Amino acid sequence: AISPKAIVSDACASYSTLERLNRNVKPALDDLTQTTDFFSHYRVNLFHKKCPFWDDGNGMCGNIACAVETLDNEDDIPPVWRASELGKLEGPRARHPGKTVQKEEPQRPLRGGLGADVGESCVVEYDDECDERDYCVPEDESATSKGDYVSLLRNPERFTGYTGVGAKQVWDAIYRENCFQRSSFPHSAALGHDTAAKGPAAMDFRAVIEAAGRQQALEQQRQQNPLTPFVAQTGLELEDECLEKRVFYRVISGMHASISTHLCWDFLNQTTGQWQPNLDCYVSRLHKFPDRISNLYFNYALVTRAVAKLGPYLSEQQDYTFCLGDAAQDAETRTKVLAVTEKAASVPQIFDESLMFKNGEGPSLKEDFRNRFRNVSRLMDCVGCDKCRLWGKLQTAGYGTALKVLFEFDNNVKPQVPVLKRTELVALFNTYARLSSSMEAIQKFRDMVMQAEAAE
Ligand code: FAD
Repeated sequence: AISPKAIVSDACASYSTLERLNRNVKPALDDLTQTTDFFSHYRVNLFHKKCPFWDDGNGMCGNIACAVETLDNEDDIPPVWRASELGKLEGPRARHPGKTVQKEEPQRPLRGGLGADVGESCVVEYDDECDERDYCVPEDESATSKGDYVSLLRNPERFTGYTGVGAKQVWDAIYRENCFQRSSFPHSAALGHDTAAKGPAAMDFRAVIEAAGRQQALEQQRQQNPLTPFVAQTGLELEDECLEKRVFYRVISGMHASISTHLCWDFLNQTTGQWQPNLDCYVSRLHKFPDRISNLYFNYALVTRAVAKLGPYLSEQQDYTFCLGDAAQDAETRTKVLAVTEKAASVPQIFDESLMFKNGEGPSLKEDFRNRFRNVSRLMDCVGCDKCRLWGKLQTAGYGTALKVLFEFDNNVKPQVPVLKRTELVALFNTYARLSSSMEAIQKFRDMVMQAEAAE
């Protein structure tokens, strides 16, 4: 078990501090993401982009059959419990009006609406041009489609049965090819300008894995003696690995850990048809890998810091409008947002972004870091399950927004007010909510493990 006093490396907080903070933030975050139209609907291009890295038609990706065939006795279970059904989107979807129509008719109803009770003025998004500071591919990149609006409440992130070679190929590409061996990527031409290797900044992924292993050993050492000083907190280089490379790996691994937590917590027993936590799933994917849990907590610290930093920009004084033309909903949404940002700010310096891209090879890594992250977000178009793709896209966009807020905006420099699209805000706060519920689930799973051990 991880000692609560142990420090989450690269963040400036212990596990117990983050858990306490989460108990404080979670009710406000749930309220924001579950009761406001603005934050419970996401615009996403789910169906009109092809996987840019490999051929969707080869059965490895984009083809749900590749996932289904690896499940045991899929044919024997009721059709509604099959992966192809579980992975489908639920509820109405509304087409985005498109830029030209928006200009001509600013308040027009959504085509194929999301329901009478959804405040359209809180959901429709005005298109902006993309920003060179983006860490993910903006959702309006496609020339042919502007994506659909979907209800996140009707499509919770949970077990879908998506597994096998298709899922493995995507995770492999995220970790190995796309992150640190891009120069060897077989289809790099498909990636366009972002793929150009950046000379000395190109990295060897194995070195990162090894460093992560060393770091895990150090972390275990610290867990035994939490007072052991930790160099990474000071921003100094840990062994051979610099902070920036570690952070990149941790963001990806923490996101993966959060997805695994949700599918284990909200798991469908395909024999009984019961949705329930699956302790074996948790033990085999997370409990045995404290580094994965540490990365999830690290992400919580990083996103908390981004949300706290954003607070002043979303306040009344800055006049950020959430619901155009609906003053009451606008005020209510703002109050709920500020409840979250204020609580997030209650633990100061939870993550110190000013240490990144500063020392050693740091400054030269920034553009590379951003380009790599964009490629991870592009990989989401290779996820062969609609619901998984929805949440994969939302979370990569959420981390992309957090990174943009942390590294592209300086609270001390006046004119640098972040211009965030609605999509980015929705993604950021929902990603925060995902991490928050993962942390809660992990604590409950931990108790279940202890109870099971005590009963033996
Ligand atoms: P995987 O989770 O596929 O992991 C593959 C390998 O990566 C592991 O063998 C391990 O070596 C390594 N690994 C695992 N976790 C970590 C970590 N945290 N850090 C570092 N390395 C790690 N399934 C659902 O049921 N619901 C979903 O919503 C869902 N969303 C998905 C979103 C995306 C973007 C992707 C790519 C997949 C998604 N899946 C989802 C599938 C799910 O993540 C798993 O791939 C699937 O359950 C098979 O799991 P697995 O045990 O084979 O290992």
